[in-house]
Amino acid sequence: MALIEIQNLHHTYHAGTPEAVVALDGISLTIERGEFVAIVGGNGSGKSTLAKHLNALLLPTEGEVRVDGLDTREPASTWEVRQRVGMVFQNPDNQLVATVVEEDVAFGPENLGLPSREIVERVEESLRVVGMLDYRRHQPHLLSGGQKQRVAIAGILAMRPQCLVLDEATTMLDPLGQREVMETIHTLNREGVTVIHITHAMEEAAQCPRMIVLSSGRVAMDGLPVDVFSRADDLHRLRLVLPPIPALASQLRRDGLPVPERILDADDLASAIASLATERVGHGRVGNGAD
Ligand code: ADP
Ligand code: MG
Repeated sequence: MALIEIQNLHHTYHAGTPEAVVALDGISLTIERGEFVAIVGGNGSGKSTLAKHLNALLLPTEGEVRVDGLDTREPASTWEVRQRVGMVFQNPDNQLVATVVEEDVAFGPENLGLPSREIVERVEESLRVVGMLDYRRHQPHLLSGGQKQRVAIAGILAMRPQCLVLDEATTMLDPLGQREVMETIHTLNREGVTVIHITHAMEEAAQCPRMIVLSSGRVAMDGLPVDVFSRADDLHRLRLVLPPIPALASQLRRDGLPVPERILDADDLASAIASLATERVGHGRVGNGAD
């Protein structure tokens, strides 16, 4: 059984009223345990609405969402669903509640009513995983954005979720903070946590093994980033921009250089250009020899 199974999910806000908004319009997708998935899409494409279905903050107006086999519409499952899927939101300041880092991380496990020894263990382990153990006695409001977001992630991890959903969790951060959060979620994924990273930073999506593109509440593309980025025209139509390296490759192709498709990162592009250069030098030598 997959961790997340979504069948024909529709979500309409204010259904049945003149203000009705169709936010999700028939989404079907499966996310296996241990996957690392990026979700991208323009403003209003339905990303946050989809995220909220993954831990039963919203319920389908049609179709179904199953988490670890649990139907989110089943009121008796709500608590178990939320235990399995933790959410990290955009603004770290809204997610930190205590005046000391370790108290903040302990907040969730305390609410679970765990014994205090177990809470202490979980707090330590979670802070270690996100690289914030040294800050355990610090005041959250004095931390950088990236550090705050890592404390927020630790707070979720202390609940031992199977899946972490980050809804634009890097959007408000500076480049260093973004990198810290990306490194943290890569580490978590290697340790077995399923990660769903909603972002509008295409270069972050490029680092994920699978990329889903939403448009008008539907799945427009779903695959390897390198394949998604090779559809430059489709992305352009969806008002999404290629990350810098695929964009440069695409520009070079337009300028007549036969750069191959499937260029994802600087290494790919550098070796493509190197082999084109070698070919030319090779041709040159042949030419010179004939002269
Ligand atoms: P995204 O996260 O991709 O920007 P959202 O899921 O927030 O997209 O929004 C999808 C659509 O649903 C948009 O048209 C948005 O205006 C609408 N929407 C989102 N939240 C609400 C709400 N609480 N009430 C009414 N409409 C909403
Ligand atoms: Mg959103």
